[in-house]
Amino acid sequence: GVEYAKNEIFHLTSSLHAGMEGSYLDRESKAMHAGLMDNLLMEIGDITQIATYNFPKGVIDVPLVQLGPGTVDKKKPVITCIGHNVMPAAEVISYLEDMDLMDDVEVCGICCTAHDMARRNKNVKIVGNLSKQLKFIGTGISDVVMLDEQCVREDIIDVARNYGTVVIATNDKVCLGLDDRTGDSVEAIVEDLATGKAEGVLILDAVTAGHVAVQTAQRLSETRKKRDTGLLSSKEIKEWAGKCTSCEACLRTCPVDIHISDFMKDAKEGNFASFVDAKELCVGCMRCDYACETGIPITHVMDSAARNYTENYVGNVRMGRGPITDVEIRNVGRPLVFGEIPGIVVFAGCSNVPNSEREIAVMAEEFLKRNFIVVTTGCAAMSLGSYKDEEGKTLYDKYPGEFDAGGLTNLGSCVSNAHALGAAIKVAHIFAKRPLRGNFEEVADYIHNRVGVVAVVWGTYSQKAHAICTGLARWGIPVLYGPSGMGYTRLLVGRKDKPETFKGFDARSGDEVILDMCPDELITIAENMEEAIVKIARNVMRPNDGAKGRVIKISHYMDIHKKYFGTVPDDLHLYIRNEKDIPITMKDEVMAILEKTDWVEKAIPDPTMVERLVRK
Ligand code: SF4
Ligand code: SF4
Repeated sequence: GVEYAKNEIFHLTSSLHAGMEGSYLDRESKAMHAGLMDNLLMEIGDITQIATYNFPKGVIDVPLVQLGPGTVDKKKPVITCIGHNVMPAAEVISYLEDMDLMDDVEVCGICCTAHDMARRNKNVKIVGNLSKQLKFIGTGISDVVMLDEQCVREDIIDVARNYGTVVIATNDKVCLGLDDRTGDSVEAIVEDLATGKAEGVLILDAVTAGHVAVQTAQRLSETRKKRDTGLLSSKEIKEWAGKCTSCEACLRTCPVDIHISDFMKDAKEGNFASFVDAKELCVGCMRCDYACETGIPITHVMDSAARNYTENYVGNVRMGRGPITDVEIRNVGRPLVFGEIPGIVVFAGCSNVPNSEREIAVMAEEFLKRNFIVVTTGCAAMSLGSYKDEEGKTLYDKYPGEFDAGGLTNLGSCVSNAHALGAAIKVAHIFAKRPLRGNFEEVADYIHNRVGVVAVVWGTYSQKAHAICTGLARWGIPVLYGPSGMGYTRLLVGRKDKPETFKGFDARSGDEVILDMCPDELITIAENMEEAIVKIARNVMRPNDGAKGRVIKISHYMDIHKKYFGTVPDDLHLYIRNEKDIPITMKDEVMAILEKTDWVEKAIPDPTMVERLVRK
């Protein structure tokens, strides 16, 4: 599988990267195939690590694990692992287990590696999503930062250096100019790191890196004086704030327009409230730091002002559970395909936008309360666990973990996104008995026309996120990016003004028909959370919905549109096939709307876009 996928990606990227493919259809086809290969590799990757490290294997009632900087015991040596490839972090854990040191050394993670570390050992602490990396290192809590691959900040050494934290790079994709010490003895490397002869090293052997990380953290924690004092004191914050010249260079570079100079004026007088309020807006990009010619460490000032949040925040997250089980699919297959469970919403992505924690939680809860199945992975799953309601509860406290109506399921790290797709494929295979082998076209057609699943990727950051989404789209699953998705400059949006572009077949009669215009988007963006919620409610509709299912979906779509936009959707007539689709309590209102359009009743076909699947 790996060789096949590598070969395909090699040829596809050689065709696509320089814009050699002149046909948009061929280009999209190749891009989608590359995304599919990425999905395949993710699945192989997760199955391999599940088997190798004995991760939970589709366990429904996985435990909640602690999340947030406040869960880390600062009195112990602290190792913080960042990235996406758990191998070196797993060696840290294995070494600690072998030496019976798990209770003596604190191991925590940021970004997807954190999920997989917690799947490996539930005592691991998850600090949070990728935007937390510089903020957490800025607390000075970590003795050692261990990097693997992907989503690692380029300037991480510059920040770590300020606190005497050493950096161990472990992967040839992220070398950071560090000396390659792969062949050296553990003792020699530890000696250089612990005595300050080296501020970081590259070790391309995971076992050695694991041993070095533990032994270095143990030695450094005894000698590092700055730990626990990484954040600035009130006096230091005021001093830095007093140096601000109000030049506004920081404001001009800030992607979320935080008025830092105003906050500096307040902070100079000892009022830190505005910095505290800004903590959810700031994405930790540090552009302001680099822009400030006065040299004020702006983000550090901000994080220090919000000390309690930066250092002590505690949330939780349900441990990544891996694949959805066949039993669960059997239970939900029928209500999903006929629309009685209104849909599956997958929240994935990097959450690297202002207010992302609150927005993802609000979106997820909107659909959990409406009995959708909500699935999450990666940094989005951590963001959900970082946001608490007025009662101090996260969504993981409030909703069960099973893959069922009203359930919130954390599959695991980014590679576990393959299991969200796997669930849709299993509905086609287990519930509808569609063969899998060599049968991509039929399974994708089934998902697109019958399984109301939508993926939401909020705060996209990497090309990896785009690859995952492109792969999902190939299976007929609509993908919704948040505003940052505009950076990919690629949308696949249906032409509702041209019904003939929704042409397909009635598999019963063989007639060519215009299928229901749902989903009407395959890759799309929403400019804000409200628009995203409305688009999700619309894009879970499927041509195969039974009348009962469509009534439920229409009623959610209307209700959500009114709640967030204050109006009835102007495309309602496109989704009502006959009077049976109209929610009884909304009948008069809907009929009045339909009468103002050219709406006529439509027959409901057995929908397919693949002519060979016509049974006649
Ligand atoms: S680190 Fe925060 S305040 Fe600074 S530029 Fe980025 S978002 Fe704005
Ligand atoms: S760039 Fe520095 S000096 Fe200028 S307004 Fe921002 S914090 Fe103040």
